[in-house]
Amino acid sequence: MTLTGKNLIGKSESSQGDQIFNAINPANGEQLPGNFFCATEEEINQAFALAGEAFVTYKNVSGAKRAEFLEAIGEEIVALGDVLVDRAVAETGLPPARIQGERGRTVGQLKMFANLIREGSWVEASIDTAIPDREPIPKPDVRKMLVPIGPVVVFGASNFPLAFSTAGGDTASALAAGNPVIVKSHEGHLGTGELVARAIIKAAERTGMPNGVFSILNGDGPTVGQALVKHPACKAIGFTGSPGAGRALFNAAASREEPIPVYAEMGSVNPVILLPGALEKKAAELGKIYAGSVTLGVGQFCTNPGLMIGVEGDSLNEYLTSLSSAIREMEPATMLNEKVWQGYNRAREHSLAQDGVEEQAISETGVNGDNWKGRPTVASVTAQRFLENPTLHEEVFGPYTLMIKCTSNSDLAAVVDELQGQLTATVMGEEEDLITYADVINGLKEKTGRIIFNGVPTGVEVCASMHHGGPYPSTTDAKYTSVGTAAIKRFARPLCYQSWPDSVLPDELKNANPLNIWRLQDNNWTNGKI
Ligand code: NAP
Repeated sequence: MTLTGKNLIGKSESSQGDQIFNAINPANGEQLPGNFFCATEEEINQAFALAGEAFVTYKNVSGAKRAEFLEAIGEEIVALGDVLVDRAVAETGLPPARIQGERGRTVGQLKMFANLIREGSWVEASIDTAIPDREPIPKPDVRKMLVPIGPVVVFGASNFPLAFSTAGGDTASALAAGNPVIVKSHEGHLGTGELVARAIIKAAERTGMPNGVFSILNGDGPTVGQALVKHPACKAIGFTGSPGAGRALFNAAASREEPIPVYAEMGSVNPVILLPGALEKKAAELGKIYAGSVTLGVGQFCTNPGLMIGVEGDSLNEYLTSLSSAIREMEPATMLNEKVWQGYNRAREHSLAQDGVEEQAISETGVNGDNWKGRPTVASVTAQRFLENPTLHEEVFGPYTLMIKCTSNSDLAAVVDELQGQLTATVMGEEEDLITYADVINGLKEKTGRIIFNGVPTGVEVCASMHHGGPYPSTTDAKYTSVGTAAIKRFARPLCYQSWPDSVLPDELKNANPLNIWRLQDNNWTNGKI
């Protein structure tokens, strides 16, 4: 399939602008085929106008029909075959097996949302029937359900070109809820973005969805990205990326005449607490396991373990020795793009230059600077220095981890107290440790969206019970997840009907419950009729 580089506005293709972007292969620095046209203000307006028209129809399309659309997107993505895999590999430096796995996850997410909306109970229908003879005043009939909100803008992530990008979790959940989507294509994988966008548009046509239910626009964040968030027709933002860009979008959304929600997932340092019980039994083994987690995907995961915290002693030393020797043997690998690679080097060097930070190990193979390869690194610092220095609390996006050495349990508690909000926190220990260190663990729960026992934070299961979110700055809204079925709730709002005739209520709220969904009826869960 030939890439046109045009902005895809519903079914039409547009290239009004004269600013061109190109994709670069991070493995060799060479430009990849395709000139991508930056969207103009007029094209942005067209995309929103079409999305607004599409919303009028799309919000009333049944869950069953929307489910067909989502499944068709998955089928069209799979039908792209190796063309998609090859382009994504060339644009990101990620290996083919990883891209194939991510494609499977993307299709799986689309199917998961299809199943959710086909079943239908996600709308959280709630019904309080009238009590006309209640004293002192009659109780009205009150019914509530979740409804879509309108056009959603999605900013894809550089580190997941498929699963957190054009047809990723944000797009899938927004479309599932009944909203049109406009994607701001990521400059790091423009061709992958166009291929996937064409698959979505094809699926929309195949399943009879309204024109404009999906559009994709090229452009840089500070101009096109900002114009999208500020557009009056935009109703919400889904974002994954850096704290700087996430915060810029949040601020722009809050300063609009009509503020809109920004669901920004900005990553975290994902602290790992190493309790004595775990280290005494298998310090060396854990060191090796964690070297694998730190370097997985060249450390370019939002759940990468960037901080390790333990109390000084022989077993912590043994762990650190094992981690360090495994890190020394790890090959540096190509990072996603030049910006990410430069950002990694800058942040890593800045961290290593802080007072009291000691380099423990740097990958000894390969040369830093060769084809944008990130060099695995482990460093250490005392709890005291960590507590004094906010720089050390910040994410170093890449294969880097910092060990914080505490001298006492109270040091450990103090470090946990000072941690920023996190997507994940991990506790390595024995069950008895959980009782001995209950205060530390209680403190940790305040800081994170997911708390893991004896595992690694990398790897996020896509399921109903997953929470991939957390207190600021890991996200801009700790109540919501960007992974799993609950992600749909970001793009829906409650609408309450009071005293409406049954015949005109949505099916979800009708007495006969024609969709057979689960509803909270007079404070009892039931899938029956009234
Ligand atoms: P990014 O720089 O935050 O960019 C993400 C998206 O936001 C891009 O489409 C970008 O557009 C746009 N953007 C940037 N600045 C903006 C602004 N002021 N207003 C509106 N939109 C803006 O993230 P990235 O390119 O994916 O990676 C860069 C860094 O982000 C990494 O080094 C890492 O620190 C972090 N990151 C974190 C995670 C995570 O999960 N924690 C994931 C990926 C990246 P353009 O780039 O086209 O200008």
